[in-house]
Amino acid sequence: MTSRGSTPAADPGAAALAEAVTAGDRRALARAITLVESTRKDHRAAASDLLRQLMPHTGGSIRLGISGAPGVGKSTFIEALGNYLVDQGQRVAVLTIDPSSVISGGSILGDKTRMETLSRRPEAFIRPSPSGNTLGGVARRSLESLLLCEAAGFDVIIVETVGVGQSETRVADMTDMFVLLLQPGGGDELQGIKRGIMELADLVLVNKADDGLEALAARSANDYRNALSLLQPRSAEWKVEVRTCSARDRTGIAEAWDAVLRHHEALTARGRLAARRAEQARGWMWSEVKERLLADLQESPEVRDQLPALEAAASSGSLPAAAAADRLLEIYLGRQQG
Ligand code: GDP
Repeated sequence: MTSRGSTPAADPGAAALAEAVTAGDRRALARAITLVESTRKDHRAAASDLLRQLMPHTGGSIRLGISGAPGVGKSTFIEALGNYLVDQGQRVAVLTIDPSSVISGGSILGDKTRMETLSRRPEAFIRPSPSGNTLGGVARRSLESLLLCEAAGFDVIIVETVGVGQSETRVADMTDMFVLLLQPGGGDELQGIKRGIMELADLVLVNKADDGLEALAARSANDYRNALSLLQPRSAEWKVEVRTCSARDRTGIAEAWDAVLRHHEALTARGRLAARRAEQARGWMWSEVKERLLADLQESPEVRDQLPALEAAASSGSLPAAAAADRLLEIYLGRQQG
């Protein structure tokens, strides 16, 4: 249990907050997200308690990951899709994972005012990326925020990230469907898209198919279709689709949403969605274990004492890397037993 120190296992404050979140109280949701984003130990315990209480209320939304290089039109697209969904009576939450905030402390996604019209609609909830030192930590908090939004009754949860590396995998690991946005023209090298990211995509959208670029967009879509046909499909139930759209003119948005729904049905029909989510939850458990063990090891005073010498020995080759790792683990485990 979490009840080390002063935080009781079933915090009555957490119960009230859980109730307010499930009732759809937006301020309570914002408070709950601030709680899961906090790194303070007592907050972590309260957050964990809150999440445990809310787990039975999660699982009901469509979890959509969206990625693409900076400038491709992610926020314009989310604004268009979000408004389309809200017009249909759906409630939409948007969360972001911004790897640049981890690397540089700056932010690609968060600095400007984004999704202005969507953010003004009461049926939409937009939360910028949490800050943090590790992408793992930032991603874990986004996953927890996703669960909170789900408990608050949002029908669709969009998790957005910049297409520049590792964060796509994290987003794909917490969503049901991964959408990659591209621009007309330019191969994947030109767009800075790594093959590994193409492999994660369930739906590829060539955006900015407007202003005379419609034909080029259609050709690019064809090229990507051909390239994708050579890749191993991500699941047997779904064949990756490539479509064109214009987020600015709001064309192709309904068709893109239709693809999301068909994907959702295809996965749900054979129990594949539940299986994917179960695999994801197991994966998150292990990444949590790894991250915490590593942090504990690195914070251990005995390890810290010996670390510079062992790192130097491994770097210079006076000790094989594996032997240096053995020694580190012995020191760490010795401390655990002692
Ligand atoms: P993000 O960095 O991926 O979030 O991209 P933004 O949504 O901020 O868009 C970057 C730029 O592309 C902005 O100037 C948008 O107005 C423009 N843009 C976005 N979508 C479209 C589109 O469908 N067509 C055209 N022509 N421009 C677009």
